[in-house]
Amino acid sequence: MAVFSEAMSSSRCVFTYFSRNYKHTVLHPCTIVRNAHSAISDNCENYDIIVTGGGLVGTTLACALANNKTLESKSVLLLEGGNKHKYEPSERYSNRVVALNQQSRTLLSSIGAWRHVEEVRYTPVRKMQVWDACSDAMITFNEDYLNNEIAYIVENDLLLHAVDKQLSEKDSVKVVYNAKVENISLPETPGENSAVILQNGGNFESKLLIGADGINSRVRQAMGVQHVKWNYDQMGIVGTVELSEPTENIVAWQRFLPTGPVALLPLTDTLSSLVWSTTTVEAKKLLKMSDEDFVDRLNDALWKVYPKDGFVESGMKALQQILETLSLQTGVSRQLQPSISGVVENSRAAFPLGFGHSVYYAKPGVALVGDAAHRVHPLGGQGLNLGLGDVTVLVKMLAESVRNGATLGDMSYLKKYETSRQRHNVPTMLAMDALHRLYKGTAAPIVLARSLGLQLTNAISPLKRAMVHHASDDDNNICQ
Ligand SMILES: Cc1cc2nc3c(=O)[nH]c(=O)nc-3n(C[C@H](O)[C@H](O)[C@H](O)COP(=O)(O)OP(=O)(O)OC[C@H]3O[C@@H](n4cnc5c(N)ncnc54)[C@H](O)[C@@H]3O)c2cc1C
Repeated sequence: MAVFSEAMSSSRCVFTYFSRNYKHTVLHPCTIVRNAHSAISDNCENYDIIVTGGGLVGTTLACALANNKTLESKSVLLLEGGNKHKYEPSERYSNRVVALNQQSRTLLSSIGAWRHVEEVRYTPVRKMQVWDACSDAMITFNEDYLNNEIAYIVENDLLLHAVDKQLSEKDSVKVVYNAKVENISLPETPGENSAVILQNGGNFESKLLIGADGINSRVRQAMGVQHVKWNYDQMGIVGTVELSEPTENIVAWQRFLPTGPVALLPLTDTLSSLVWSTTTVEAKKLLKMSDEDFVDRLNDALWKVYPKDGFVESGMKALQQILETLSLQTGVSRQLQPSISGVVENSRAAFPLGFGHSVYYAKPGVALVGDAAHRVHPLGGQGLNLGLGDVTVLVKMLAESVRNGATLGDMSYLKKYETSRQRHNVPTMLAMDALHRLYKGTAAPIVLARSLGLQLTNAISPLKRAMVHHASDDDNNICQ
């Protein structure tokens, strides 16, 4: 059955209707004459919502919009600058993985994409151990804090494939690949449409434009919002590594070194995925060296004993005594980290790391989601989770606006989205940035302060539980 979408109010020239898997655009024989969009030609297509950027966040957003009962009749266009992503199941693990929190999994389940992940593979994380190379301080998390698994390790390409597959079943969404957005004109007065022009000349209009186009977002630039950013002069080295001994691999490990954190995420009983943040100079050297040398350096990063400072040691001992007197946890649940025996051939790669935050996520008729709005250090595994949290809240707010008879892009609802997400994202991002800075320091007072903080947090269960719940984005509901 065909579903007709409203003609756009401002151009009034295009009628769009959908039949199963096809979107038909019929041009009215009128000519569009509009000053603000003078570059728009008369073959402009109209949509209710345009999403630019078909990465993990943009694709999930398009799918969640189509899945929402209130929004399912809205026509959605997803513009992706790159080629259509092709996924071939392979025994070899991809070197790019993400640790998804419970809220992200719930969102992916609610839109029907998680079952496609389950059909292939993912690894649950049941325990996390984070420790400091410069002292004996450590913190552990286990499933008890969530009554569920702590996280799920999924390969990025499998995840994108899963959401893509689900999206292909949605009639109301059209996806265009090799559609690099070149020019954007945003509404000058509320209620006007946004116009998008592609590098290849294609042009489109919508009531609501959503930028999911990553860290160099064109939509964010068109909004002219202030973007606070800095580089860490660090790179994240990723790779697939082989464990020295097969084990029930359910623990995510992270050790803070003065050069940056090294993390191992479980894949199978014999394989883990590596995310090793280090200085750019060091990262470049690590990428160039032989597999054998790389493995030696990695084992050093995981095991090397750093000289302990007497001042830090006595401070930590004093804390331990206090914790024992109060019958609080003193770190007895410490587990030994694995050793690495090899790195899967050609699995090493490195990505520059930085921080970025857009001061506003919305303006009338336009909103930002995912890395377009915020970029965070990977040490907490939060980047995509924050982006998927944006998706959940934005879809909820748009559905509310439609139910209340407001237009898509109504600023009062977009503002609610922005406020809700910034309340969650900003503290998370600042905490990640503060951790990065705190663990770079090697001066004894800094090491002592962070070690006491880590050990105390480990000992106080309600504090730990609150941390896990915040990281899991439990304050947001799913977008049905
Ligand atoms: C080493 C490393 C490890 C990480 N680990 C984790 C983790 O464990 N957990 C976690 O939650 N996050 C993690 N992240 C972060 C996570 O990968 C990102 O936050 C997430 O992938 C961002 O998704 P996105 O869709 O917002 O942006 P992107 O993936 O950048 O997608 C943007 C899309 O927009 C398209 N695009 C760009 N410009 C245009 C244009 N002009 N026109 C049309 N299309 C355009 C691009 O082609 C791209 O497909 C990690 C990041 C790194 C670097």
